[in-house]
Amino acid sequence: MKKRFLIAGVLTLGFIFLTNMTSMATPAKPKKNKKQTSGITIGNLDKSVKPSQDFYQYACGGWMKNNPLGDEYARYGSFDVLAENNQLQLKELVTRIAAQKNAPGTVEQKIGDFYNVAMNTDEINRQGAQPIQGQLNAIKALRRDELPTKLAQMLLEGSSPFFTLFGSADPDNSTMNIAYIWQSGLGIGDRDYYLDADQKDIRVKYLALVEKMFRMSGYSKIAGFQGSEGDMAQKVLSLETLLAKHAIDKTVLRDPYQTIHKCTPADFQEMIPALDVKKYLGTLGLNVDTINIAQPEYIKGVNNVIRVTDFEVIKAYLAWNVIRNAASCLSDEFVDSSFDFYGKTLSGRKENSPRWKRVINNIDDCLGEAVGQMYVKKYFPAEAKARMEHLVGNLQWALGERIKASTWMTDETKRNALDKLASFKVKIGYPDKWRDYSALTINTENYYANILRARRFDMEYNLGKIGKKVDPTEWQMTPQTVNAYYDPTTNEICFPAGILQPPFFDMNADDAANYGAIGVVIGHEMTHGFDDQGRNYDKDGNLYDWWTAKDAEVFKERAQLIVDHFNSIEVAPGVFGNGEFTLGENIADNGGLNVSYSAFQKAKREGQIKGVMDEFTPEQRFFLAYAAVWAANIRHEEILRRTKSDPHALGRWRVNATLRHIDQFYEAFDIKPGDQMWMEPEKRSRIW
Ligand SMILES: [Zn+2]
Repeated sequence: MKKRFLIAGVLTLGFIFLTNMTSMATPAKPKKNKKQTSGITIGNLDKSVKPSQDFYQYACGGWMKNNPLGDEYARYGSFDVLAENNQLQLKELVTRIAAQKNAPGTVEQKIGDFYNVAMNTDEINRQGAQPIQGQLNAIKALRRDELPTKLAQMLLEGSSPFFTLFGSADPDNSTMNIAYIWQSGLGIGDRDYYLDADQKDIRVKYLALVEKMFRMSGYSKIAGFQGSEGDMAQKVLSLETLLAKHAIDKTVLRDPYQTIHKCTPADFQEMIPALDVKKYLGTLGLNVDTINIAQPEYIKGVNNVIRVTDFEVIKAYLAWNVIRNAASCLSDEFVDSSFDFYGKTLSGRKENSPRWKRVINNIDDCLGEAVGQMYVKKYFPAEAKARMEHLVGNLQWALGERIKASTWMTDETKRNALDKLASFKVKIGYPDKWRDYSALTINTENYYANILRARRFDMEYNLGKIGKKVDPTEWQMTPQTVNAYYDPTTNEICFPAGILQPPFFDMNADDAANYGAIGVVIGHEMTHGFDDQGRNYDKDGNLYDWWTAKDAEVFKERAQLIVDHFNSIEVAPGVFGNGEFTLGENIADNGGLNVSYSAFQKAKREGQIKGVMDEFTPEQRFFLAYAAVWAANIRHEEILRRTKSDPHALGRWRVNATLRHIDQFYEAFDIKPGDQMWMEPEKRSRIW
């Protein structure tokens, strides 16, 4: 559930890593392992293709052939293999606890009861829609003047119709948390689904889902719909379409200055007279002077929607939010209907994941650090942390050298960039301080009730931060997560234990491959501090322009080469990449490769890298290991979905497009003008 609060700008790898280093000095070298492998799996290659033709196919073709897409997946990649392995490890931990007798109130009791209740499908199916009847009845009885109270209650229960509220760092004073209001409440997801002519099929299927769920949940009877469920579903879709029209496009929201509109609650009230703001904030227990309305024009639009919409339709929309957010925890009928749309239609998946996986994911959401603590104790070796600290130190050094050697930045901007780099906080493996779950009640009565209490526990935890100091020890990912992040407001990079395994990080491999994989991940996260979003924050995490006007201009020119390149890629017949939307991630991949390559070359000069291994030079191993991270099979529907909603480019293009900007890649594989992988040097972007 933590993901909900990442909206304000935590930048992930799409996969990623961590330690506490304030110095940029290179730490002591790790002991050499005698039995090192090359880190390259020859069977993952497709040697029928030349690297100069299609590098992605060459480096990953064997993997793609050997790992066909299972029915439960929309995309299955080398890092999903790792994530799946982590799930199996968590399953082993959780089922052992669930099988034993645990003392009431302990985290073991909570984990065990959560799992047992969630796995008891007989009981869950017997209950049907019963667990949400209380919420639906309350919505039925709602009066218009009670709407603010209801929206606040729903927020605490994990639903955010119209808009959402959360606590996050003040952009002008990053040590303090303030309240943010952010647009939300679109059941399909991105606004394009509602507005684009070519998305009509999706809307038709969504409509059918809403109609079916109104019937299955019993809400149409409870509320006494005047017309049919289909009529009401159409009205709800119209309401959401109006919201979509007012919603700000995701590309615009990439500019952090576009989402900063700090004001008083009275100003907020002026934007939305149709909703009693005092009542809303009061129900949440918030007594604040300042609130950041991320999208004021959207909020004014919401005001209009609330004002003109029949209240029965607003209530149906609220009910739909409850049903939609509950469906995956109710009976099979709800789970399957929800999967039909969100899994099959939107992503092209053929079947749902086994129940145990879905339950483990929910435990990860609700009790993530409790299982995380057990996970690292059992699976995370101390040597992995030491080796990572060494790598991170080398990368930090390399980025510093590259900034100093940059030909396009003035000394003033360089000084500020180096200052920011030296201030990076690094988190590796797992947090020093674990979250306290003692106030969360989990019991054996009802699966959905457990989920609701966990959502409320999480939301109250987040709201409790508002008006208080930011806790620098807190982690925004659980240690078992296969990912990494950079947070511009704390200027921290974080690498959870879950990602510190092959294909990212191989304790037994020569470091050429490790620099190409986890090294690039580290460089990727560091570069987020200097991408189109991150560069707007200073070393303390405040939104502050530390660039000279000329340097900012050159940065934009160089970034534009990346935008233009990704815009020109046809990801599916007639569908092109979104260069603006994926710019931050593409800059991070570009910088990550350059920075890690520099660190790798230094390690090579120092004799830490072996010569040719498995026929490949160290430079070739570096780029092959990079590509191996993105080896994946993906469905057509998922390509379309991700192109709309994922700020990361697709794996194929994180390899074939991104590498075209890296000069050393051409040298490593002897790629020449006329080769398919060739791109003219003047089209290559060089930023960090
Ligand atoms: Zn990223």
